[in-house]
Amino acid sequence: MKKEEVLKIELSDNFIIKTSNSEYTSKVVILATGNKKNKPKISGIEKFEGKGVSYCAICDGFFYRNKSVAVLGNGNYAISETNDLINIAKDVTILTNGKTAPELRADNVNIDTKEINKFHGENKLEHIEFKDGSKLNIDGVFIAQGVAGSSDFAKKLGALTKNDKIIVNENMETTIKGLYACGDCTGGLLQISKAVYEGTIAGLQAVQYIKLGGKI
Ligand SMILES: Cc1cc2nc3c(=O)[nH]c(=O)nc-3n(C[C@H](O)[C@H](O)[C@H](O)COP(=O)(O)OP(=O)(O)OC[C@H]3O[C@@H](n4cnc5c(N)ncnc54)[C@H](O)[C@@H]3O)c2cc1C
Repeated sequence: MKKEEVLKIELSDNFIIKTSNSEYTSKVVILATGNKKNKPKISGIEKFEGKGVSYCAICDGFFYRNKSVAVLGNGNYAISETNDLINIAKDVTILTNGKTAPELRADNVNIDTKEINKFHGENKLEHIEFKDGSKLNIDGVFIAQGVAGSSDFAKKLGALTKNDKIIVNENMETTIKGLYACGDCTGGLLQISKAVYEGTIAGLQAVQYIKLGGKI
């Protein structure tokens, strides 16, 4: 048992799980991080989703090569997303929206702690307006508030999701071999009994998967 915040999961021959203070390699991952509900309540966010607002630096970062981007958040997850963008974008501004600034210093990273009022643009995001009336021209904003959730991990690994819920089969297997999901993150009834049932299936299937050398 490790009590650590998972920042990132990558897939090569095995899964590589990066946490706030360590890194683990594994043949199987079961996603069970619940139902993330920390989309910031900022006017304009939903309007610009896919048009300047993204939830995945590794998936969408390359659209912003040599452009100015922002990361909205102030925790370890926001720092992890910023680190993925540093080498792609021209510059990255961490927007804490009134919260404490994170400990991160890098040449092309700025930190702005002002509270945000609204996202603006015609057909795509163009600038952010702060509550003090000031503006920041920006090409893209990556939302990384709080901790990374199951669907963030699933999407970054290429597993299918629908309405932010992870798609699984009757064995709790996602569309990626060796990647399972259970509980609130798979949608349906948001109840403990359902989470425990799915967790049991995922656990048993994961053991079977390893015993058979990843051949089921
Ligand atoms: C106020 C409230 C009352 C409820 N009452 C009931 C009830 O009476 N009966 C009932 O059956 N259900 C109830 N539920 C629903 C029930 O709590 C959930 O269905 C159940 O807890 C889902 O289990 P889960 O394991 O999928 O997720 P969770 O219980 O949400 O567990 C997810 C865990 O993952 C951790 N986590 C998330 N992200 C990361 C990360 N990046 N790195 C590391 N760890 C991470 C979280 O800290 C958390 O410990 C209630 C829910 C709420 C919010």
